[in-house]
Amino acid sequence: MTDIFSAPHFRDDNAAREYLEKILWPDGPVCPHCGVIGHAYATKRPGVYRCAESKCRKDFTVTMRTVMERSKIALHKWLQAFHLMCSSKKGMSAHQLHRTLGLRYETAWFMAHRIREAMRDGGLAPLGGRGKVVEADETYYGDIPEAQQRKFKTTGRPMSKKKSGPGKKRAIVSLVERDGRVRSFHPAHADGLTVTEIVRSNIDRETRLHTDESKLYFSVGKEFAAHETVNHATNEYARGDVNTNSVEGYFSIFKRGMRGVYQHCKEKHLHRYLAEYDFRYNHRVKLGYNDGDRAALAVKGAAGKRLTYRGRH
Ligand SMILES: [Zn+2]
Repeated sequence: MTDIFSAPHFRDDNAAREYLEKILWPDGPVCPHCGVIGHAYATKRPGVYRCAESKCRKDFTVTMRTVMERSKIALHKWLQAFHLMCSSKKGMSAHQLHRTLGLRYETAWFMAHRIREAMRDGGLAPLGGRGKVVEADETYYGDIPEAQQRKFKTTGRPMSKKKSGPGKKRAIVSLVERDGRVRSFHPAHADGLTVTEIVRSNIDRETRLHTDESKLYFSVGKEFAAHETVNHATNEYARGDVNTNSVEGYFSIFKRGMRGVYQHCKEKHLHRYLAEYDFRYNHRVKLGYNDGDRAALAVKGAAGKRLTYRGRH
């Protein structure tokens, strides 16, 4: 069996730093203080650069202002963790990271959340476009503790699921471009107003919108090139190319992974797990990415997203 961690950047801290510099600084060192690119010189301390701008002259490293900032974990361990979380289809729990990488559980837990942050897509460009199909659907995952349940009137799908009605489960809304990317949301409630806002602000108007018969999409659907629905209630799952198979497939990967890997996910972290599953889906093999590409892209996403959740969320 080949060791997946045989590459030098998984084994040696200097090699790891050089790998990070190559990925995060393709055009030379970027000074996080003043933003100048490729205008710095190396100091005697490995990995420490000094800005050459006369008004700046400050020192910096490649991990400054990234999710790895001020971490005591060796950089090559970080890269191993990035690789593991990017290459396993269902994700990797903090327990698995803790055992595999020989880190304290708490350390692995923080690391995993920081990597999820790196995976978060800040992109605002709308999905779809002329001639393209975007499937929209909502699902419910995990119970909301009784004390937090809010009684509210649903304006969409009727409360038909006995114990799993929208009021008691955490709502997830996902938009999947056919043969393309996914974007997922965890709104407090998947009601008409919320879903309309999500759909309206994330899908190009020229798109054909495909949904099930849910009333949630009825009104906003009129704003698109077409709004075609399949009626699951009458066992209709596809009509021509009209279906919601992609978004349902995505939900199925998410739910199987969450049940198998992350049994206990607190509500406040659900959007982070969604970001993780979205990231892997958006860089899946079918779209031309391998494990290495995926890990490199996650590492790239580590920049400009300093850890912000400790104590605030
Ligand atoms: Zn500078």
